[in-house]
Amino acid sequence: MVPKERIDALLAEYDRDDIVIATLTSHSSLQIFHGARKLGFKTMGMTVNHDTRYYDAFPLGKPDEILRFQDFDEMFARAPELVDKNVVLIPHGSFVEYMGAKRFQNLEIPVYGNRSVLQWESDRDMERQWITSAGVAMPKMIDDAREIDQPVLVKYHGAKGGRGFFVAKDYAEFKMGIDHTQPYTIQEYVLGTRYYLHFFYSPLSTDGYHAHEGSLEMLSIDRRDESNIDEMYKLGSQEDMKRHGLFPSFVVTGNVPVVIRESLLPKAFDMAEKIIKRSYEMFGGIWGPFCLESIVTDKLEFKVFEISSRIVAGTNPFISGSPYADMIHPGMSTGARLAMEIRKAADEDRLPEILS
Ligand code: AMP
Repeated sequence: MVPKERIDALLAEYDRDDIVIATLTSHSSLQIFHGARKLGFKTMGMTVNHDTRYYDAFPLGKPDEILRFQDFDEMFARAPELVDKNVVLIPHGSFVEYMGAKRFQNLEIPVYGNRSVLQWESDRDMERQWITSAGVAMPKMIDDAREIDQPVLVKYHGAKGGRGFFVAKDYAEFKMGIDHTQPYTIQEYVLGTRYYLHFFYSPLSTDGYHAHEGSLEMLSIDRRDESNIDEMYKLGSQEDMKRHGLFPSFVVTGNVPVVIRESLLPKAFDMAEKIIKRSYEMFGGIWGPFCLESIVTDKLEFKVFEISSRIVAGTNPFISGSPYADMIHPGMSTGARLAMEIRKAADEDRLPEILS
């Protein structure tokens, strides 16, 4: 990983009035560019073989400049050129995944957020250690498949976006579905309603909901559309479908805005606060946008099955605000909130506190 001192040395040479906000042209980039423009930043899209013509259809989300690279090796090698332009990178899920977490950590360009978190969330065991030791409930793990006595979700390591998961209701179904050549984990299938809670933690501010040493905001909540599980019920029972060779999958295809019942908000904030506090104890903290991916059972209890420590695509329905953001910063998206934080840090000469 690039040492923090190296990034701080680069930042010392930055022109704070001429920062360029850059990200990979995918995922939540329209929202990031739209938000950065609103706060008066120049913007840059970085792309490797990606069709970027769709930006022409959305002029207010189009980056001022698009840099094309042959591959991620070239992007990596041309870091000094980006540093010369005062670039600050905004990481998002696709950026980190396509570039590779290792290479991303070694990129010598200032990045918003704490790079150390990548290691903690890309390894499911470390992620579980972080969340559970914070005192937040997760779906139960089942170590021995013969002990399956309730519906479970089998997750192959490295499975992304729900591709490579399967559901088993007992040991017989597990045996039928399992591919022993790949490492996997088995966890309780939590029956309930899914909520993807989008928070923003600012270590630079103490207004509003005070958490750790800063301020915690809830900017929005979404639910993912997942194919084909969300529509499978239309064809009858899953057992019946299996006989026809059709198996449920959880591939994200879109996002829907939701709100949760108001009485769940204290629990949601409590979980987020504990996870932030623990992150500072374990690896120097998380700040900025993060998402708790949760399921609420009919006992009104949250179980967090995953955490994303950066902007998630589920914030995209809220480019012009949300029922929650509108009570904090009216009309503000997570992308704009990120830009607002960078603007504040630049104005107060505190960029090293939020970039790594
Ligand atoms: P993930 O890749 O961990 O984000 O999970 C992908 C999808 O699988 C989620 O959006 C949920 O729909 C579903 N899922 C993951 N874990 C569980 C669980 N323990 N119980 C029920 N559904 C789950």
